[in-house]
Amino acid sequence: MAPEPGKLMMVAPRRAKPPRHLADLDVAARREWLVELGQSGFRADQLSRHYFERLTHEPDAMTDLPAAGRHELVERVLPPLLTPVRSLTCDDGATVKNVVRLFDGATVESVLMRYPGRTTMCVSSQAGCGMNCPFCATGQAGLTRNMSTAEIVEQVVAGARMLAAGEVAGGPGRVSNVVFMGMGEPLANYRSVIDAVRRISEPSPSVLGISARSVTVSTVGLVPAMERLTAERIPVTLAVSLHAPDDELRNTLVPLNTRYSVDEVLDAAWAYADASGRRVSIEYALIRDINDQPWRAHLLGSMLKRRLVHVNVIPLNPTPGSVWTASSPEAERAFVRKLEDHGVAVTVRDTRGREIDGACGQLAAATEPQGS
Ligand code: SAH
Repeated sequence: MAPEPGKLMMVAPRRAKPPRHLADLDVAARREWLVELGQSGFRADQLSRHYFERLTHEPDAMTDLPAAGRHELVERVLPPLLTPVRSLTCDDGATVKNVVRLFDGATVESVLMRYPGRTTMCVSSQAGCGMNCPFCATGQAGLTRNMSTAEIVEQVVAGARMLAAGEVAGGPGRVSNVVFMGMGEPLANYRSVIDAVRRISEPSPSVLGISARSVTVSTVGLVPAMERLTAERIPVTLAVSLHAPDDELRNTLVPLNTRYSVDEVLDAAWAYADASGRRVSIEYALIRDINDQPWRAHLLGSMLKRRLVHVNVIPLNPTPGSVWTASSPEAERAFVRKLEDHGVAVTVRDTRGREIDGACGQLAAATEPQGS
């Protein structure tokens, strides 16, 4: 339709995308890209090994590449995507929160948690989040944008690099687990997240050495995307942030519930468990006098019993401006016991990173650091 005379056409601003990076592409596409750049395809494998295996993006370290043009090539295919803003540690150095700036100024956070025998990287999949759960700090500022595959992968590589360099308490080590439990709703950025899972778990020449089985994707319950994930047949662990067994309360705690009800979300979760043979995690942030009543524990237990499921109870972590707090220890114990009475496996999640606003639901990264 022709625009009305005298009226300006509204043109949507073109969103700039993060620069393309080797980690955005699968092995075949990387080779094609290098050929497009006038290189031999096998350079893609060499560069992949440097990036994913040796965890370097320093051209000077890549002595198997011809010196002429090496810097330009590396800058082109491994552009720095995350600029460190600050790094905070707690738990005697076993928890590290990294705040980074993306190419367009958006900031995101990731958290590395070291335990005896395993190290988990908690990564963001979006700058901000559009899900608007009132108890979660990330949701309060809304969604800025989806992250690219390479921006997601780079968080894992950055953590792996810190560990390999011995910069994390406990000596040199490696990332064993990745959880999509940082900022954002991973299933609302489906393609990039799935590609990032593939990138993280791919074999040589891009080994980070993390199996898909050690990756957890957490969702508020985007049912169509859960169904897509089921069909994908990647053996990740699916975590569902339930927080209430009844629609009335869940509609307020997880607004998306007005679109996909508790029953629909759980049905999609059981379909995933059936297809994958993997235990689904149910996340339940326990909020004093809001969702911690014995009758809700009983209802939840009766809905989950005899299912391939594990419940993670998360004591609510405080977020700025929220009036809600964690349940009393007695209420928490009673809640857990009621679930166990139904034969449901339950763990109470630790509150790693609370002092550095790095615990579940505390990642905000909305403001720039003062005075820097
Ligand atoms: N959007 C996805 C991924 C984020 S995972 C999801 O919601 O599943 C972060 C987990 O921490 C989710 O289970 C979320 O519900 C939970 N969470 C959010 N805010 C919290 C808070 N203040 N205290 C404890 N857990 C919280």
